[in-house]
Amino acid sequence: MDTLFTWLIAAIVLGFFVIRYWRANKRSEALAHAAAARGANFSDGPKAQHPHIHADSCIGCGACVTACPEGDVLALVGGKAAIVNGHKCIGHGLCAEECPVGAITMVMAKASASADLPALSESLETTVPNLFIAGELGGLALIKNAVNQGVSCVNEIANRLEDLRSGTHTENVYDIIIAGAGPAGIAASLRAAELSISTLTLERETVGGTVSKYPRQKLVMTSPVEFPLHGKFRKTQLSKEELLAFWEEVMRRTDLNIHTNEGIASVTRESNGIFSVRTSLGEYRARTIILALGRAGTPRKLGVKGEELPHVLYRLIEADHYTHKNILIVGGGDSAVEAAMGLAHQPGNRVTISYRSAAFSRLKDRNAKRIEEHIRANKLEVIFNSVPSEFREGSVLLDVEGETRELANDVVWIFAGGTSPTNFLKECGIALGSVELSQSEKEQSHPALAILT
Ligand SMILES: Cc1cc2nc3c(=O)[nH]c(=O)nc-3n(C[C@H](O)[C@H](O)[C@H](O)COP(=O)(O)OP(=O)(O)OC[C@H]3O[C@@H](n4cnc5c(N)ncnc54)[C@H](O)[C@@H]3O)c2cc1C
Repeated sequence: MDTLFTWLIAAIVLGFFVIRYWRANKRSEALAHAAAARGANFSDGPKAQHPHIHADSCIGCGACVTACPEGDVLALVGGKAAIVNGHKCIGHGLCAEECPVGAITMVMAKASASADLPALSESLETTVPNLFIAGELGGLALIKNAVNQGVSCVNEIANRLEDLRSGTHTENVYDIIIAGAGPAGIAASLRAAELSISTLTLERETVGGTVSKYPRQKLVMTSPVEFPLHGKFRKTQLSKEELLAFWEEVMRRTDLNIHTNEGIASVTRESNGIFSVRTSLGEYRARTIILALGRAGTPRKLGVKGEELPHVLYRLIEADHYTHKNILIVGGGDSAVEAAMGLAHQPGNRVTISYRSAAFSRLKDRNAKRIEEHIRANKLEVIFNSVPSEFREGSVLLDVEGETRELANDVVWIFAGGTSPTNFLKECGIALGSVELSQSEKEQSHPALAILT
């Protein structure tokens, strides 16, 4: 009797875990299908490193799904791990680390994306001599990689400086101009200060780069990294605000020459090898350049009154951060309607799209269908033949076929296209092509990192 009872208890316990696993699996599949229905697939995904799942080896345990710090990038589909929200992947590689059977390898971007990346030497030099690239612009994401690459570019330049200085006794020439003050640019600027190299850093917006644009209190995952003027930075999880405060504190320890709100417009190389950098405010010269511009590109501005207000934005990172808001989306392309639909799903939002044409004409079929459904269900409003004429605190003025209409407004997103960093690289004369990481870079970034060919 006792034995029967023990077997019964064991069966109940086993049944409990089997049902839990089955339900988790189902939930995961439902999430995957929902993501697919939203059109969130890998084609909109990162141009940097990401997981590659070997379906033959995957045992469907879901360890990778749980390990991903960015949420629903992976899910179990048909009992196997699959990428369902590739655009959210930023290449941490924890999924690969947690996979008990080694079924995940971290790979670089797809060949099509690699064609947009700069060809770089082992020392991160482009095909233009003494013009270097650090951070995500080179195709490798993550803060620790940006920091390591910023530092290593400056170390390489330091080795060449004696030669470069003796070749050019020119007045008013910096040793280095660093473009961009995200993690790569900050680390490069600090390393240059540590080595007393004359440097100018030019930043289009404010210091902090993409990190400063993360949603409030976003948990940042990173790995221990050697930080100039500080030593080993050991924290592996901290809020975006804590990370920005740490950088500010380190930057206060030295005199950095950083011009914020001054973006670079062009880089040209004179016949004597000196670079000339033109910005929105002036022109500067340098013996070497480090481009640390990230991959976000430059959004096109409308030139409308009030566009400089802080609630006028050009990039939506997380829609669920915005609730109970009056929102205006300007534009009629896929990015505009996807953002509008994402925001319309958040509680309490009233979303309006302003589009200058009489109808949407260049949407993917999937988006064209979904936006129609959203309009029919009154989930959002579209005002065709309209352009914004002024952004104000609390409202926006639209010119609708010659008549002015005022809408209550808390946040505006403008999706009017822009310039990709690829075009900028081409204008600088930098050759693009497939990027082969050196062995040391592969090891630095992730033990399981491989190149996808
Ligand atoms: C939502 C999200 C979450 C993430 N979470 C993590 C995380 O938890 N952990 C992690 O390690 N990584 C994370 N990442 C990735 C990480 O933020 C990037 O890999 C990293 O910021 C790249 O650093 P960077 O310095 O190369 O470029 P960026 O941080 O993009 O900085 C580039 C800088 O260049 C400036 N710039 C651009 N054009 C010009 C110009 N013409 N002139 C002058 N300046 C210019 C920009 O204004 C910007 O300040 C995340 C990314 C996103 C989008």
